[in-house]
Amino acid sequence: MKTPSPINRSRSAELFEAAKEYFPGGVNSPVRAFKSVGGTPLFIAKGDGAKIWDEDCNEFIDFCCSWGPLIHGHNHPYVFEKIVATLSNGASFGAPTKKENELAAFMLERLPFIDKIRFTSSGTEAVMSALRLARGASGKNKIIKFEGCYHGHVDALLVKAGSGLVTFGTSSSAGVPEAFANETLVLPLNDLAALEACFEANHHDLAAVIIEPIPANNGLILQDLSFLKSLRELCSKFKVFLIFDEVISGFRVAFGGATEYYGITPDIVTYGKIIGGGLPVGAYGARKEIMQFVSPDGPVYQAGTLSGNPVAMAAGLAQLELCAAPGFYADQAEKTNKFVESINDFAAQHNFPMELVSIGSIFWFSFNGKKRIAAAEQIDNDMSAFNFMHHFLLDQGVYFGPSGYEVGFISSAHTQEQLDFAQEKIKEALKAFYNQ
Ligand SMILES: *Cc1c(COP(=O)(O)O)cnc(C)c1O
Repeated sequence: MKTPSPINRSRSAELFEAAKEYFPGGVNSPVRAFKSVGGTPLFIAKGDGAKIWDEDCNEFIDFCCSWGPLIHGHNHPYVFEKIVATLSNGASFGAPTKKENELAAFMLERLPFIDKIRFTSSGTEAVMSALRLARGASGKNKIIKFEGCYHGHVDALLVKAGSGLVTFGTSSSAGVPEAFANETLVLPLNDLAALEACFEANHHDLAAVIIEPIPANNGLILQDLSFLKSLRELCSKFKVFLIFDEVISGFRVAFGGATEYYGITPDIVTYGKIIGGGLPVGAYGARKEIMQFVSPDGPVYQAGTLSGNPVAMAAGLAQLELCAAPGFYADQAEKTNKFVESINDFAAQHNFPMELVSIGSIFWFSFNGKKRIAAAEQIDNDMSAFNFMHHFLLDQGVYFGPSGYEVGFISSAHTQEQLDFAQEKIKEALKAFYNQ
């Protein structure tokens, strides 16, 4: 594992200057701009297995994995072969292809809680469509979401809690009309009393509750199983649709995502990331009684020029075939646990107030003594420890997503040697931060 010295990032810097002329903030998705950690984003030239290289030929072990889709790393030979074979017949037709059937059949056979799915081109689109379906099928309007859960950049969900515990949302982005935000009720995670009170007050006009059953977009905020179970019971009692947004957790913690992992069944589920194999895909699914509301069977309109794109379907199917191998998820979790425990033992020995929180092959650095947090408001705003570590590790050839609120991923491509190397570097980074 070599790290060129002195580290040259001039090509990334030049490209970023040019990009700033083309795109707002120089990027096509905000977190990529390194605003949170500071400094200049790296422009990535290529990836292979668990490694990526930037435009200056620096090499990194990648724990971002494109924010989750690449559960088998970059350019996995089987996924690559399927993409190329499909692409050689043309990229898109806007007509049905058998690739859609193949991916759907593979998923539905293994996801007994849904009868039908609809493919979209992103996770955001899947969530947006799932909300429309919940509203269209129930004839009700309001949605509950939880503070600290991210569901893509859907208008009605770019909403945070206002003051007070049970509250109408206030939009967290300019350009979202207050009238939209008013249809969204925002509650703290893992707070059953607040949830019950909100159901009592609003169930007449409540279409759905949407939650990341494993909240992993604002730290990793693992929920009490009892909270998730109560949520399921309340939704059933009041005939409110429960939507599990499994865009990150689906096919990540188990083939059937958090639904399978926890044994709690939602009414509507959304997927994305892993099911596209690195290409743009999302999906939503439900029982056929619910899915029959979707156009052209029913009145809930939803469409897409590139929906079910054959190349993306082939990439997703290839990844899922690999995921379905016996023992795959147990192996991933074991590999991740070993990595996490070694770092946590080290931090504990040195009294460093940091703990890695993890589930399956997802992990997150919880700093400032905040162990295993259950709600968003418990996260410290001070990200200085993560920011220090991020830059330290970049210099050492270890790449994390550029924000302390983001989780890391371990793929099946990460070798033990690479994990040992990264683990040592993380320990050095912690020592350097806490002993400075
Ligand atoms: C990433 C993510 C989304 C948005 O998916 P995009 O493909 O980025 O639009 C929605 N929900 C969750 C839980 C996600 O992790």
